[in-house]
Amino acid sequence: SGAYAQGKELVVATDTAFVPFEFKQGNTYTGFDVDLWAAIAKELNVKYKLQPMDFNGIIPGLQTKNIDVALAGITIRDDRKKVIDFSDPYYESGLAILVGEKNTDIKDAKSLAGKTVAVKTGTATVDFLKAQVPDAKLKLFPNIDNAYLELATGRVDAAVHDTPNVQYYANTAGKGRVKVVGSVKSGDFYGIAFPKGSELVPQVNKALATLKSNGQYDAIYEKWFGKKP
Ligand code: GLN
Repeated sequence: SGAYAQGKELVVATDTAFVPFEFKQGNTYTGFDVDLWAAIAKELNVKYKLQPMDFNGIIPGLQTKNIDVALAGITIRDDRKKVIDFSDPYYESGLAILVGEKNTDIKDAKSLAGKTVAVKTGTATVDFLKAQVPDAKLKLFPNIDNAYLELATGRVDAAVHDTPNVQYYANTAGKGRVKVVGSVKSGDFYGIAFPKGSELVPQVNKALATLKSNGQYDAIYEKWFGKKP
């Protein structure tokens, strides 16, 4: 290991706010993705600098090679594979609906028709809702935490985002103000993202496999999500 660009400090992008994968705690970023990358970088013996940025800027940043690696709960999709490379999948996800604690009329994707729904710019949720619930009025936010605040203060009817993020928020900052009413999509997978043709891809896949077989992946998973079902 350690074959990649000895001495070069990799620029590793994360999202600015996507609990519990990456979020600011005091002055530093922490979370599942942050820990997973730290373990991979140790395996590969590479130096890096974390660069939190709005999700919307990450894929363009990889395309221009301003970023060497990105971990931001990025959903692996065929359209994205045309412009960036992905590692093997590292986390299974989906989409879920969040509503105010007292809401009773929203329970599935269909019931979002005619409602104002807070979503995050550039994410898979936007494409999903445009295709599945064209009558929903989407209100776009670059940062999902602001979308959730908008919901908690009653300015939108619902928010839709990645299931683990929605659930984590509902159990922490949103506790008592919002609730998760339903999964609208499952079977998505997150991958670590790279510029097309990056020589890091096979090395990172190998490190990921090592961490999965030696228990380190499970330890990081349990730290953030509890025991696997
Ligand atoms: N999984 C979402 C996507 O790829 C983004 C998650 C996030 O907000 N970081 O579109």
